[in-house]
Parts: sequence; C-alpha cells; structure tokens
Amino acid sequence: MALLRTFAWAVGTVLTVSAAAHAQDSTEARFQERRLALVDLLRRHGIRDSATLGAIRQVPRHEFVPAGLREGAYEDRPLPIGHRATISQPYIVAIMTETIRPHPGMRVLEVGTGSGYQAAVLRAIGCRVWTIEIVLELADSARARLQQLGFGDIEVRHGDGYLGWPDAAPFDAILVTAAADSIPPALLEQLAPGGRLVMPVGDPGGIQFLELVEKSPAGRLSRRRLEPVQFVPLQRAEP
Ligand code: SAH
Repeated sequence: MALLRTFAWAVGTVLTVSAAAHAQDSTEARFQERRLALVDLLRRHGIRDSATLGAIRQVPRHEFVPAGLREGAYEDRPLPIGHRATISQPYIVAIMTETIRPHPGMRVLEVGTGSGYQAAVLRAIGCRVWTIEIVLELADSARARLQQLGFGDIEVRHGDGYLGWPDAAPFDAILVTAAADSIPPALLEQLAPGGRLVMPVGDPGGIQFLELVEKSPAGRLSRRRLEPVQFVPLQRAEP
C-alpha cells in the first residue's frame, strides 16, 4: 500500500512538473511569435539592417519590463521601468541601432542603461558594449538582469554619462538614450575617427530630434538631423 502511494505521488509529481514546463514553453512560444510580428512591423516601418532586425528577433524584451507589463512588451511603444525612466519604443531602438551601422567587434558606448535592453540588442549583434546609468538602482538591476540572460560581458557602470567613459575610449559608436539641448563635449572627444554618435537633441522636456554625428577619419565632425523623438532628460550628477 505504502509502495502504491509512493508510486502515485511520484507520478503526480512528474505530471505537475511537466505541466509547469509545458506552460513555461507555451509562454515562451507566445512571446517568440510576438517578437517575429514586431520584427515584421519594424520592417514595414522602414528598418532595413538585418543585424538590427536579427537582434530584436533574438532578445527577450519581456524580460526587461516590469512583471505586470510583460504582456505589452512586444507592442511598439515605450514602457515605464521606474525611477522616471522608460524602456524605449522598439522602433526607436531599431533606428538608433541601425544608424550606427552595427557589426561584430565594434566598440560601442551607451549612455542611459535603463533596463539594459538597448545594450543587449547591441551585444546580440556582437558589439562590445560599455553602458552607463546615473540611477544606482537601475544600474544594479540592469547588470543583474543582463548577467542572468547571458549578456554578462556587457560592462555596466553607475555614473554620469555626460562625462563618457574615458578609460575605455575611443568608441566606434556612441548612443545616448536621454535628451539634452546639446551634445556633451566629452562624448565627441571619445568618438573614434570614422565613428558615429546618435543622440536626441532639443528641449529635454518636449520634442527633440535624433541627431547623427559622424567623425571623419581626419577627425572632422558633421551633423545630421534624423527624426523627431521624445526621450527622458539627460540628468547631471550633483557636483
Ligand atoms: N536605453 C534604455 C532606456 C533609457 S531611458 C533601455 O534600453 O532601457 C534613459 C535612461 O538614461 C534612464 O535610465 C536615466 O536614468 C538615464 N540617464 C539620465 N541621465 C543620465 C546620465 N547623465 N548618465 C547616465 N544615464 C543617465
């Protein structure tokens, strides 16, 4: 009798564990399907770069948003992540990524880690990534999340990205994911010859334009306006 009970318990346990695994699988499959639909939408909206689209297809955006907002993770809109920060709209992540012409081995600095999603997209392409976040809690949680998702070789630093990351410079590309009315001079200095910087420039409380700065091999800077965007302001650390 005791043996039979043990057997029944064992069967019950196996069934419960496999049901849980199945539920997990179907959730993952559902998110993966939505990711494919999102990539289709981005393509229809003009994103062409296959490395960028491939990375967005691969990185689980639902792991970068608060638990209660996961179901909306593959809609093309920004979502709040606390501390007055937002994870950018997928289209904006795509445009910024595509604009730097990403490729494996490229050295990229991101200012404004937030959730860590943009950094993960760059890493998924094969870029080497340094990212700075001014809010300590966001830097710590992004570092832990990236580690857990297999992106542990992204360097996450807590600090003021206005000053860049001098000891890892120069960078082939710099992405600033917070807005200011001008481009921080340290970032222009830390951009390698032939490098590209993309950043929202304009009224930090209102509408800004994404701007692309290119540094020629001879070190000359040229600027181009891309499209209107709305980012959270670039803050400055207390002196
Ligand atoms: N790239 C992020 C979204 C960024 S939201 C993602 O993929 O989720 C903008 C982020 O910039 C916020 O987290 C904000 O705290 C941070 N930030 C603002 N000013 C900063 C500064 N001077 N240096 C570094 N990070 C800054």
